[in-house]
Amino acid sequence: MRAPGLVVLMLCAAPVVLGQQANLQGLKQEAAAEVDKLQTLTQQMVDEIFSFSELGFQEFETSRYVTGILEKNGFHVEREVAGIPTAWVASYGGGKPVVAFITDIDCIPRASQKPGVAYHDPLVEGAPGHGEGHNSGMAVNVTAALVLKKLMAEYHLTGTLKIFPGVAEELLGTKAFYVRAGLFRDVDIVLGAHVGSEFATSYATGDGESSGLVSVQYFFHGKAAHAAMAPWRGLSALDAVELMDTGWDFRREHLRPAQRSHRVIINGGDQPNVVPSEAAVWYYFRELDYPHIKELYDLGNSIADSAAKMTSTAVDHKLVGSAWPAFFNKTIAEAQQKNIQTVGMPKWSDADQTLAKALQKEIGAKVEGLKEKIEPLAEPAKEQTGGPSDDVGDISWNVPMTYLMYPANIPNLPGHSWPNAVAMATPIAHKGSTAGAKVQALTALDFLLQPQLVQQAWDYFRTVQTKDIHYSSFLGPEDKPAIEMNQEKMEKFLPQLKKVYYDPARYKSYLEQLGIQYPTVKRQP
Ligand SMILES: [Zn+2]
Repeated sequence: MRAPGLVVLMLCAAPVVLGQQANLQGLKQEAAAEVDKLQTLTQQMVDEIFSFSELGFQEFETSRYVTGILEKNGFHVEREVAGIPTAWVASYGGGKPVVAFITDIDCIPRASQKPGVAYHDPLVEGAPGHGEGHNSGMAVNVTAALVLKKLMAEYHLTGTLKIFPGVAEELLGTKAFYVRAGLFRDVDIVLGAHVGSEFATSYATGDGESSGLVSVQYFFHGKAAHAAMAPWRGLSALDAVELMDTGWDFRREHLRPAQRSHRVIINGGDQPNVVPSEAAVWYYFRELDYPHIKELYDLGNSIADSAAKMTSTAVDHKLVGSAWPAFFNKTIAEAQQKNIQTVGMPKWSDADQTLAKALQKEIGAKVEGLKEKIEPLAEPAKEQTGGPSDDVGDISWNVPMTYLMYPANIPNLPGHSWPNAVAMATPIAHKGSTAGAKVQALTALDFLLQPQLVQQAWDYFRTVQTKDIHYSSFLGPEDKPAIEMNQEKMEKFLPQLKKVYYDPARYKSYLEQLGIQYPTVKRQP
């Protein structure tokens, strides 16, 4: 006798679903209003993390500061996760669904720059700086999480929030370890956020301009000798590095056009009259998918071995980073796109536009100011060209995930250098982060209140994304996070950086503390 029961169930179910929809719209409006109320905190987070200027694996002040805010607001924080001193997970709530947020926190070597100034003017000469804009991500995600927590408590919503820091993203150094440590095992949906000049999201392989990679350091060991008196008694490790580099560059012609590979010599010896007994070179090998990345990795190892043979030196290598090419979830992207449209672009002031145009002019980029329009959700590119990498890729192959690009920076910049830091502690970054926080909160509500949408995201993940491709980490069982990286570089600048940390108790903004007139642009001749 199932039929009558079913009818009763359907009659009951209909009003509940309708009620939930109405409820969802109301909650979204309330969430957006609550994000607006937190604008001062959002601005302080943007400015404070900008002033910390911490390189990958050295994000101690940033992590202390952000976890402090979260703990003060009732989140439970677990520290040093996955064997990484600056990594942590903050949680609130209980039960399903588990909605996680992630965003990067590290900065770029030598990118120190005064905010609001449209020409190169370092805060601390030679020091690291937020020349990628990662200082704004936590302002986005933490603001959204605080608002969600308030609404969840007030309206007794079931579900768990989790906040993760993207430690050492610039080194592609942690996400594979997060995955290996099982940090995403119970997570249903991941909402990543990354600074951009546009307000956009994408799914699948997006614009096709992203690659996966392995980051590998090769250490050659030779024998020291007086370089003039007895060079025949020495074996040069630097010769091996140079032969490896030359070998790679000859081979490059015969690799697929989609590959990207680049290197820096991290140890070239000490002085010319000593045959270098130790030398080292660091490669990023990028390709479009796991098998091709693995092929480049194997080829790199074999060219290194050959260079060692030619010079009678020895070589060993260390994997210091890895990333799967990212693949984002269509269901989440579609929900997110609607929320981007609801929130809309920030209202830029004349001062914001003046700064943007002056910087674009200064660096010889196309002068078009800040973006005013939202990007539509595009179909994924038919052909992948490859390009940069992000180690969230590993997460995206384990849990349905999207990556929100929020408009907190100036368009047409070169990336990974001082121009990308110019706007990052100004009203451009503050307004863009507030807009980003709204979309993160609204999208989380979509999944907290609609279990069927969580199901739909997983259906896409299982039947489309991972139908034929299965995740397998680049990490070997012996590989460990390279937590010692950047330690010396950071220690060198720490005393000078500490002097310019932002103090929100004394100054309304970092611009005010530094006495910078906004915007500061070169006078027209
Ligand atoms: Zn980044």
